[in-house]
Parts: sequence; C-alpha cells; structure tokens
Amino acid sequence: MSSPELLTPDLVRRFTASHLAYWLFDWDGTLVDLAPRPDAIKVPPALLDHLRRLEKSHPGRVAVISGRSLDDLETWIPLPRLILVGNHGAEWRVEGQRRHAPQDPGAAAALDAVRTPLHDLARSLPGTALEDKGWTFSFHVRGLGAEERETCRTVIQAIVGPHPALCIRPADGCWEIRPVLGPTKGDAVKRLLSNAPASAVPCVFGDDWTDEDAFEAVGTGLTVVVGNRRPTRARYHLPTPRHVRALLQNLTAY
Ligand SMILES: [Mg+2]
Repeated sequence: MSSPELLTPDLVRRFTASHLAYWLFDWDGTLVDLAPRPDAIKVPPALLDHLRRLEKSHPGRVAVISGRSLDDLETWIPLPRLILVGNHGAEWRVEGQRRHAPQDPGAAAALDAVRTPLHDLARSLPGTALEDKGWTFSFHVRGLGAEERETCRTVIQAIVGPHPALCIRPADGCWEIRPVLGPTKGDAVKRLLSNAPASAVPCVFGDDWTDEDAFEAVGTGLTVVVGNRRPTRARYHLPTPRHVRALLQNLTAY
C-alpha cells in the first residue's frame, strides 16, 4: 500500500473520459459529514440534487453502499432511481425492487441471542448507542473516551464471543457486530459490477475500514479514501465529505 494521491476533477475526467463510469459511494463520512449519532446527520439539499443529476447521466450506474439498513437509507435519500445497498450488501434496492441476500440461519439465531444484552449495555453506558439494523448491529461509542471505549469493547466481546457465527469489526466511531459469513462491501461492489461491460471503470468512494473491502474488490478502478484514515488500498484521497460533494457538483454542472 502506498500513499494515496489527491484526487482532482481533471484526474476524474481523464479516468472516466473513454470509459463507462460506475459511481459507488459510501454514505456517512463520505457524502455526508459524520455526526455524533447516526440520526443527527445533515443532508445538504444540493447533494441530493447532484446525485439525481449524476444518476440521470449515468442511469443504473450510481449506487450508495452503506452499513445502514436499507429502510434507513431510503429515508435519507429520497431518490427512487438510485441503487441503494444497505447492511454492507445484505439488502438491495435496484430499479425500485427490494432484494436481500440469503441469511445464514445460525447467524440469525446468534444475532437474536446478543440483541437484548447489547441493548442493555448501550442503555447502561451514557455516550453509547446501539443501532439495530436487523442483519447487523452498530454499537456507537463516539461519546466515550479512548479508555472507556476499550472497556466497552471488552464487554461487547464477552457478549458476542460465545457466538462463532458473529464477528466484531471496527468502523468509524462504532463497532459492527455482524455475521462472519455475511456479505461485505467488496461482495456488494462485485455484484453491482457483475453485468458491467469490460470497459467499465468503477469509481469507489469511502471513508472507513469497511470500505477497504470495496477498494480491494475493484483493484485498478478509481478508488478514493475520504479523510485521514491510513493505511488504505485506495489510490486517491479527498480530505472531507465536503470535497466529495464539491467534486459531484463539478461533475454534474452543465
Ligand atoms: Mg462511512
């Protein structure tokens, strides 16, 4: 892995000029600024307008791939033509049709078993919140100091550890508790591109560790890490979601 290069609009144009671009964006920390709680994000109206324009010029080739549930994504992104992928690839909305990946019955039982203890833990610890997304959980710890986070991580491990069908993965300001065999954003990207022509160039934007699976899946595409997290497999970087939004505005200006 080497240091990613700063992405410029000219670079994007050069990359996509003679290719069929597929635009695949993470949501939190990539298109919208991170907030203390997942329900406290601000979605600039201009962002939705730029996404709508991009979809119009790239029909069927613009997707938001998020760890949020599909229901939640739909409330924030009222754009019916956009492809939405929730729960890291477990839930899909394509051409208005909802689909979901098959779920391992062992994982479903394990998720049920840890649900109440995780809710109890979040309720007992000010500064934390449990986001129950059905297929996965996000245990938010943004309100805790570094030491408290470690203690919290130990308790989560004690709850989740006895269930080998589940794993804990670090994400930005939270831990993801998810099936070991569940899809990743890499699987989601591969599936999205499975019917794409050979000339397609995937343009993948993401900010956190779960986006590394997507960067790895597209290999030589245009991969862009947002923010300062390193190391990364992404070839390019942008400093903040505001820079991603400015790029979108630039790409969709006409
Ligand atoms: Mg993110």
